[in-house]
Amino acid sequence: MSDTVSFGYQEIAADEKTARVGTVFTSVARSYDIMNDAMSAGMHRVWKDRFVKRVKPREGESILDMAGGTGDIAFRLAASGAAVTVADINPDMLAVGIDRAAKRGIDGLVWTEANAESLTYPDRFFDAYTIAFGIRNVTDIPVALREAHRVLKRGGRFFCLEFSTTLWPGFADIYDAYSHHLVPQIGKIVARDEDSYRYLIESIRRFPDMPTFEAMIGAAGFVQTRVEPMLGGLVAIHSGWKI
Ligand code: SAM
Repeated sequence: MSDTVSFGYQEIAADEKTARVGTVFTSVARSYDIMNDAMSAGMHRVWKDRFVKRVKPREGESILDMAGGTGDIAFRLAASGAAVTVADINPDMLAVGIDRAAKRGIDGLVWTEANAESLTYPDRFFDAYTIAFGIRNVTDIPVALREAHRVLKRGGRFFCLEFSTTLWPGFADIYDAYSHHLVPQIGKIVARDEDSYRYLIESIRRFPDMPTFEAMIGAAGFVQTRVEPMLGGLVAIHSGWKI
């Protein structure tokens, strides 16, 4: 990894990024769920449902939901009877998730603080690894992908849901204007936090395009990699297998 990395549109020292991302998510944790609805007009629920449908969780299998935040993916996975571990680097996001699970009467999830780049699980531990809207916030993405590969069993599945770059030209322009101008304003009004939402939008723009990210997943050791674009690639599901 180079000495500097992107933090939104800024280039910062690699060892600063994790802390700055931490500040963003600590700041947005309490308003995170309401903001997801406000920013996406509820669409994130559809994307997450489709993502979990692709994972096809099964009763009894063990799934690591990395960067699981406030639990949206984990709740959906757990509905199948899978044993789900929610891991996230940010204790404030996890605390919101633990409260939400209690309010919904969802128990049996394991909540754990962990950095995707350095997991303490043994090799070949999980049947599936999911990461939704998390990977673009990780400082060293290739290292996190290799960790995902390491902790999966042979035959294990990797799934990533992330914003990408839409290939629909007119839509790309509209989305660009919306995301750069309106989202920080929505963040200011709803979450009283314009800067964090500006980072979250800028980080989408800095994330590798679909073929590049698919190649990164392959470079981490996954095979039969696949990309499923939604809205022309505004959001994409990337997947791969460990053999
Ligand atoms: N997966 C959840 C969802 O889809 O609603 C939360 C996504 S939220 C946009 C991104 C999450 O990534 C935050 O909770 C943040 O703390 C977490 N995160 C950022 N860097 C991380 C890292 N290096 N390791 C683990 N989690 C990380």
